[in-house]
Amino acid sequence: MKVTIKRWNAVAAWRWDMPEDDVCGICRNPYDSTCSKCKYPGDQCPLLMGDCNHSFHMHCIYAWVQQEASQERCPMCRQGM
Ligand SMILES: [Zn+2]
Ligand SMILES: [Zn+2]
Ligand SMILES: [Zn+2]
Repeated sequence: MKVTIKRWNAVAAWRWDMPEDDVCGICRNPYDSTCSKCKYPGDQCPLLMGDCNHSFHMHCIYAWVQQEASQERCPMCRQGM
């Protein structure tokens, strides 16, 4: 397992204080794995990063923005994407 030290105090916009910060905020699968709908990691299931620096599996964020309630905002910090 890779461990990355993040500069918690330096990132003011980062309000996510759960420990599992390298999982997709939508499906909770790790970034280096696939979304819950895909079986194999790789180009089929890339990560997308929003302006707010939150990353999600492409399939997860596509499904998210298609929900009316999402208003095309980041599901983690509610910034517009
Ligand atoms: Zn995901
Ligand atoms: Zn996928
Ligand atoms: Zn965000």
